[in-house]
Amino acid sequence: MRGLMQDWPLLCSKIIDHAAREHPRREVVSRSVEGPIHRTNYKAVRERALKLAQRLEKDGFGVGDRIATMAWNTWRHLECWYGITGIGAVYHTLNPRLFPEQIAWIMNDAEDKLLFVDLTFLPLVEALQPKLPSLRKVVVLTDAANMPETKVANAVPYEEWLNEVDGDFAWKEFDETTAAGMCYTSGTTGNPKGVVYSHRSNVLHSMLSQAPDAMGLASRDSMLPIVPLFHANGWGLALTAPMAGARLVMPGPKMDGASVHELINTEKVTCSAAVPTVWLMLLQHLQSSGGELPTLDRVVIGGSACPRKVTDAFQNRYGVKVVHAWGMTEMSPLGTLCALKPEVADKTGEELLDVEEKQGFPPFGVEMKVTDDANVERPRDGKTFGRLKVRGPAVASAYFKNQGAEMFDEEGWFDTGDVAHIDENGYMQITDRAKDVIKSGGEWISSIELENIAVGHPEVAEAAVIGLQHPKWDERPLLVCVKKEGCDPTKEDILAFLSDKIAKWWMPDDVVFVEAIPHTATGKIQKTTLREDFRDYVLPTA
Ligand code: ADP
Repeated sequence: MRGLMQDWPLLCSKIIDHAAREHPRREVVSRSVEGPIHRTNYKAVRERALKLAQRLEKDGFGVGDRIATMAWNTWRHLECWYGITGIGAVYHTLNPRLFPEQIAWIMNDAEDKLLFVDLTFLPLVEALQPKLPSLRKVVVLTDAANMPETKVANAVPYEEWLNEVDGDFAWKEFDETTAAGMCYTSGTTGNPKGVVYSHRSNVLHSMLSQAPDAMGLASRDSMLPIVPLFHANGWGLALTAPMAGARLVMPGPKMDGASVHELINTEKVTCSAAVPTVWLMLLQHLQSSGGELPTLDRVVIGGSACPRKVTDAFQNRYGVKVVHAWGMTEMSPLGTLCALKPEVADKTGEELLDVEEKQGFPPFGVEMKVTDDANVERPRDGKTFGRLKVRGPAVASAYFKNQGAEMFDEEGWFDTGDVAHIDENGYMQITDRAKDVIKSGGEWISSIELENIAVGHPEVAEAAVIGLQHPKWDERPLLVCVKKEGCDPTKEDILAFLSDKIAKWWMPDDVVFVEAIPHTATGKIQKTTLREDFRDYVLPTA
């Protein structure tokens, strides 16, 4: 017997329709690339997205066409997402921080036909264009008055291009499983892999990430997504905020501590989301300027492990709740968030920080388990770690062009490549990337845990741990540190600091100091480069 409820396809256009109907005057505030603060609202965003959809169709674009964006978080970028998906085309966010050759490779793999680009990246596009045979047109996200001279062929200013149509248009209807968006993983090994979101997965992901134990967004919130839309589906916020009717504050190109602080306070931001590096910059700025965060209620921190000192500073110095989150491009991207269940809600001080160091538990719609190499599930005891696997309606079932098929099994589980344990209360903690874990004498040492403890040293700015070959133990940890400005800690200081915090056999065999630690385009420690740098390094114990 079939249910007798309506078929209401889960399309991205439904989200902006809802926002424009129920929260029409809710503001979308952006720091524009041109400089000034720009204000619009959901009603106007929808109207302009409809024009964009109409204009795209007039230019001959349609269902399945990949349309790239290389842009900061602004109202225009938001309009692009809704306009593109509104005709069944596919937004493809590009990370401008990648190497130009990588961007060209990705754009050719996706066969992008049109590119929306911010002024900032025009020089980059000038260099790229000759390598992009499928690219037909470039729309520069500005108006004619701000349009510079450019060598880019077929480049038009966005505002004038948009105004050539009247907006008398209706969203296209299609199956909810139709592709809506694309984002490539950074591909630390091998070529980048394309993740293809559907309308259905995007809508479901927004619904699950709105839950109180997840982002907990409400129409009373002012949400500042500092995480760029080009990083892991923008953590879904371009969809989740309008769905919740929350006010959106967009940082444009400025993500330094002073700019973020100014935007939070002048726009009375209540909730924000970014990677730890951004928060470290903000905290440093607050410390030197004596600033406060009176309106900010909570920050979502993910992308890499949130250092304990960041959580401590936000919660205990500035009165801002930290929600530690884990996810990945392949998961739309939310996987787990560290809300407080009743089992841990009465913890305080260091015990509370112990809980919040974990990445948390999944919302409805994400299933997770930890297995050994033979795919046998490991106990939820908070210490036995193994491969973290996930499944759900907003988790990838394959990569574009069927790359990396070995990461998906017959039961639909996706191997995240992360190593983790889960405790009795269901809290998951990432202990490593599978390729970074240090295998010492048949046991595993977590490089992330060592790094987290090492950066707790008051004179260490950043730390990375890699495994080096060892004749007896197979691999042993090397700790690489960057000193804080004006500080000069010694190897002995650091080892003494670690000694009462970790098991003896976890102690790094050596500590070296470097000027800087290499990072990936998404701000993570680039362990491949570090391993290369220290390939011939001989540990004193070897
Ligand atoms: P990219 O690989 O392109 O940087 P992703 O955002 O998809 O982009 O990276 C996902 C990976 O980032 C995860 O598999 C995990 O290793 C790491 N990660 C994300 N959030 C956290 C977190 N809170 N703690 C530790 N690692 C994290």
